[in-house]
Amino acid sequence: MSVAIPILLYHSISKSASARFREWSVRPELFATHMQYLQRHGYTPITVTQLAAAMSKDDRCLPDRPVVITFDDGFADFYTEALPVLKDCGFTATLFIVTGLVGSTSRWLLREREGNRLMLSWDQIVTIVSSGIECGTHGHTHVQLDTLSPAVANAEITCSKAVLEDKIGREVSTIAYPNGYHSSTVLRLVKQAGYSSACAVKNAMSAVTDDRFALSRIIVSGDTGVQEFAALLSGQGLRVAPVRERITTKGWRFVRRSAGFFTQRPRTVDQLEALRNERSGK
Ligand SMILES: [Zn+2]
Repeated sequence: MSVAIPILLYHSISKSASARFREWSVRPELFATHMQYLQRHGYTPITVTQLAAAMSKDDRCLPDRPVVITFDDGFADFYTEALPVLKDCGFTATLFIVTGLVGSTSRWLLREREGNRLMLSWDQIVTIVSSGIECGTHGHTHVQLDTLSPAVANAEITCSKAVLEDKIGREVSTIAYPNGYHSSTVLRLVKQAGYSSACAVKNAMSAVTDDRFALSRIIVSGDTGVQEFAALLSGQGLRVAPVRERITTKGWRFVRRSAGFFTQRPRTVDQLEALRNERSGK
């Protein structure tokens, strides 16, 4: 029987959050409790790329009680709050960076009243990588990739990889779809760009037989106490991946696309390139 692997998804690790963002922000003490639980119960964290490698090989070699710990967005609090705890526990993790907002603020969160949340700097990201944490991309500007034209989606996917590789001096092999949204076109573009895996959300346990380009992750939210955390790890109440995209998701994509749902959405490849140059100081 195939092992069920939990891929956990955190966002911010922080003491404060607006009411609309509280769900996405785990208090530092609670996060430490989660990590200590993993340690006490003999879990071995691996990176997304290590899991993807096990998924692509015949021997499918995994440690006992594997778990993947991921963080989306690249908030500065990863450096101040999460990294010290991970280091204390001797844990690795995978951190997904919005490359166009490094050193800036979380402008895509205006609706959550969190547009000023500080993002990591490049210096911090370099230190994080040298501490044994994997960094992947989360798009260049945090737009939902399945709502873009193929050319603009491709620019988001390839620019973010090139920028991150340039800054950290190593290959970047994984991407997390902003808000988990993806389509068959997005999947094809991610494969073409040279990624070896991609993370969605789905709130389901994973198995080595899953699609490496639509990995399921389980959201750990601000109110996930240690009992709920234990339940998530054991898959209680969760589906087992693979879970195919539902018709309702496709309908919702149409609504998001047609409603002009986003602020600061780059509409052309040129605009994206200009944005990238502006962010990198060129
Ligand atoms: Zn995100």
